Amino acid sequence: MSVLDAASAARLRAAHPLLQKLFEAVAARTPIIILESQRGRAAQEEAFRKGNSKAHFGDSAHNWSPSVALDVAPRPLDWGDRKAFIALSVIVFEEARRLKIPIRWGGDWNGNGVLTDEKLSDLPHYELKPWRDFAKRDCVLFGEAPKPPPAAVETRYPVLRRGSKGTDVIELQRQLQAAGIDPGAVDGDYGDKTFAAIRELQRRRGLERDGVAGPKTRAALADLL
Ligand SMILES: [Zn+2]
Repeated sequence: MSVLDAASAARLRAAHPLLQKLFEAVAARTPIIILESQRGRAAQEEAFRKGNSKAHFGDSAHNWSPSVALDVAPRPLDWGDRKAFIALSVIVFEEARRLKIPIRWGGDWNGNGVLTDEKLSDLPHYELKPWRDFAKRDCVLFGEAPKPPPAAVETRYPVLRRGSKGTDVIELQRQLQAAGIDPGAVDGDYGDKTFAAIRELQRRRGLERDGVAGPKTRAALADLL
């Protein structure tokens, strides 16, 4: 069992959860260093100018947060030891198959098993395949504000309706009060007055007036607070 150095571990944490899972499994089998995960706008453009990358910012799998690519080398690092990089790739692909994580390697971009037909061999580079799909679904451009967690409102609140009781109803009634819509007594009992208050909220916000406090209604209420 090998252990990642602190800088490598920090870079790994900036990668997509699937890459984290994969390279934790790889690191448990063989010593590695994580050279790079996320690359910001300035660094990407500099890599382009120097010819180290053919991509402008946004067109590299390294430009996303979390990163959908990682550059990984065998430890100790020896750039001249091509065989060590290739041996590492064998372990990475074994673990990727076992964990069912689709990846592409910069030493064999087209995945044909032939390492001499690559225009630009990039032996440390691994990315999720196809990375644009993962980036689009799970990531934002590095340096931009993170996406809010999906369906935050939906998962935060249970659906409440006439007859619902308890602390969730108390919270709903307090929010209605705070929004200036009278729910009646704040008693944790979703009765006629709370029902009418929810209908009033739905009327004001152009929602279906069913009197049920579901996700859209809760989001509309949260907007008023
Ligand atoms: Zn790379």
